[in-house]
Amino acid sequence: AALKQQTVTFPDSTHVRAHGQGTWHMGEEPAKREAEIEALNVGLDSGMELIDTAEMYGEGASEQLIGEAIEGRREEVFLVSKVYPHNAGGDKLREACERSLRNLKTDYLDLYLLHWRGDIPLQETVDGLEQLKAEGKIRRWGVSNFDVADMKELLALENGDQCAVNQVLYHLGSRGIEYELMPLLKEHGIPVMAYCPLAEGGSLREKLLDHPTVERLAETHGVDPAQILLAFVVRSGDVIAIPKAGQAKHVEENGRAALLQLTDEEFAALDEAFPAPTKKEPLDIV
Ligand code: NDP
Repeated sequence: AALKQQTVTFPDSTHVRAHGQGTWHMGEEPAKREAEIEALNVGLDSGMELIDTAEMYGEGASEQLIGEAIEGRREEVFLVSKVYPHNAGGDKLREACERSLRNLKTDYLDLYLLHWRGDIPLQETVDGLEQLKAEGKIRRWGVSNFDVADMKELLALENGDQCAVNQVLYHLGSRGIEYELMPLLKEHGIPVMAYCPLAEGGSLREKLLDHPTVERLAETHGVDPAQILLAFVVRSGDVIAIPKAGQAKHVEENGRAALLQLTDEEFAALDEAFPAPTKKEPLDIV
């Protein structure tokens, strides 16, 4: 039976597949280039249409790799890039956006994010992003690494409610956002983009992938532990996961995760092994 792939809806009613692709550290090693280009295309072929990058990643190297990988299939891709906080205003914002577009060999971004909060007043950033939107250089904009107080401040600004997404760290071993940030975003119809969904960077990763409950569920479904982690992250329907995979084998697994549906009992078992937060926790970042 054809299983329907899960989608997430942006405030402007656009749907995007809940499983996308991250690209941090891609495009930085010439020896890996060919494999990475193949991996991105395998991901697109399996329906992982969203590709996440940033001007920061390899100082343009990730964007350039993507530009090469998606040549000829731009319209199949939901392209996301991010601006450095120190570029997020005035002429610098326009220049940064145009540089990203050149690197990506495209004339528009589907989504453009403020990478994290810096010193430029938020209102100036919002005004600049709205301007880029009006010019058609970006279709929508959002933020990243915004905790509850930052989100509230943003939403109170003129056009602050145009924010389409908040990209934050979220995985089975780091559930702090479930307590207050996710409910706030849900109230405003703003989806979450989950970075490090496979708990990259840190000792936690092995602990999650080797956890007996995760292993048991993986065995039950005949999948790899990474797919259980992804199924957990996207379970609410308001979260887009952006695992990074430089190897085609990994992308194929992650693409297949889109077809995996865990039962309520199985999610309860994960809850027991990795309890939900019971109080506000500071936003986890890398
Ligand atoms: P992830 O949690 O996605 O983990 C990536 C690692 O997992 C890589 O080593 C990859 O290996 C491996 N992997 C991928 N798929 C599998 C699989 N099926 N089985 C086993 N291992 C697998 O970490 P990231 O830090 O890359 O986060 C994802 C993306 O989120 C980034 O690439 C970036 O786009 C974004 N991000 C955003 C941040 C922000 O501040 N906004 C901060 C950090 C990340 P391999 O590459 O060899 O296939």
